[in-house]
Amino acid sequence: MTAPAKIRCDACPVLCYIAEGRAGACDRYANVQGVLTRLDPLVVLERQRGTGGAAVGFLGDDWQGELVPPPEKFVTAIGAGTTYPDYKPAPFIVSSPMDGVDMVTVVTEGIFSYCGVKVKIDTDRHLGPETATVRHQGEAVGHVTTAEYGSQMLSLGGVHHLTGGSKKEGRATCEALLALCNREAVELTIDGGAALVVQAGRAPVIDGVPEVRMRVGCGSAAIGMFAMQWFRHVDEVVVVDDHITGVLSEHQAGKLLDVPPTGIRIRGHRSTPGRYFRVAKPGQGWGGTDISDPLSILEPFEAKHARPGLKMLMVSTTGDHSGYYELDEALRPVARPMPQAVAASVARVQENCEPALCSVIFVAGAGGSLRAGVTENPVRLTQSVRAALTRVTSGGAPVYLWPGGGITYMVDVLDMPEKSFGYVPTPALVAPIEFTLRLADYAALGGHMDAVRPLAEVLGQGAQVTQGWSDSAWPLTRDRFPWGRG
Ligand code: SF4
Repeated sequence: MTAPAKIRCDACPVLCYIAEGRAGACDRYANVQGVLTRLDPLVVLERQRGTGGAAVGFLGDDWQGELVPPPEKFVTAIGAGTTYPDYKPAPFIVSSPMDGVDMVTVVTEGIFSYCGVKVKIDTDRHLGPETATVRHQGEAVGHVTTAEYGSQMLSLGGVHHLTGGSKKEGRATCEALLALCNREAVELTIDGGAALVVQAGRAPVIDGVPEVRMRVGCGSAAIGMFAMQWFRHVDEVVVVDDHITGVLSEHQAGKLLDVPPTGIRIRGHRSTPGRYFRVAKPGQGWGGTDISDPLSILEPFEAKHARPGLKMLMVSTTGDHSGYYELDEALRPVARPMPQAVAASVARVQENCEPALCSVIFVAGAGGSLRAGVTENPVRLTQSVRAALTRVTSGGAPVYLWPGGGITYMVDVLDMPEKSFGYVPTPALVAPIEFTLRLADYAALGGHMDAVRPLAEVLGQGAQVTQGWSDSAWPLTRDRFPWGRG
């Protein structure tokens, strides 16, 4: 007896031959009794009225016999399959009315070789030098990029790591991206820096220590915010920060509060009054510096202004570190128990720090061949997106579109349904993308009109799961389109 013939999957360039009962290399397609079958169910969103928009009454005692509208549904591209090799229409091109306007949503999973994630890590701890290589399983998967206010930033993935290095590098990059996008924890190391565990929506773990607080602001900002609370209780405050260390008596906020000079002298580069750069090296000590003793950033006090008994608070930008000092007869700061009022001000700094989280933003270029699954004239789709006639969503979630050419978009993975992403071993990530526009506009841009199917026909066809979706994030809303406003 001869074995049943393998079937060939052409949903990505790998072109797996799949035996009966087996799955392809990406575990997304299988041979089910000789039929190529997408294994994950198609995710359909159902609008949950009353979760941020107008509520619909429950069919109860006050029902007067009027018709209850059917639930509104939106077909996402999660589990939809791809257009590859892209000469054919997208897997689902779904028509549905929206407030009396005929709309169409073109639904496809995109295979993205040009994609990556930006990871925002809320911490002022030094994770590694800017441009340092970030590794997963020892392979280079990205780099440290420009820090933002209160956060360290990583840029991971991209075509060079996915396809430009060794096979191992490509695989490690794909694995890290996939896990991060699917909200899983990923271990990373930074050359010359820290070991991290990063997970979307969770606190980062830095060298084995979970981060708790995001800093309240830079040292100068902290002086501005809390000067009023400090100047009656202490003579001097130093907010230690790797970027801008603030000094109350010299800062403009202290000047306006008539805080007299204290004779304090800070090591480092004085930028403007009360604001110092480079007081220490970056690290994981006080305020993202490498210091564990804050007095190490002070030169001896100037006798002209200092006096024995002068009270000084030194605090980090999160309030995690703090110390209270008084000058002795030799004008040397000596640690003393912190008075209650000063401790309360440190607690106020901590209270104003937001919880430290990791954010994962997926970035991809959809301006390539998948456009052919939408229209026979791909540039018309780009133009339509640019003109805001076509709205782009990813798993139903709103995306930010970069200006300029192409369709380069970003989406917060926490806005998307869980497990929205897949991969193919080329390697590349598979992400959902939907294009929604007026049916008339779709016809005008050369859309695949013969492939348009009404929503009712698509629903219930094949394996599907329905997921409730917030009213406020509902993708098919008139005012999301410029022509629908006002
Ligand atoms: S890797 Fe997946 S999508 Fe690509 S050909 Fe194989 S089964 Fe199909």
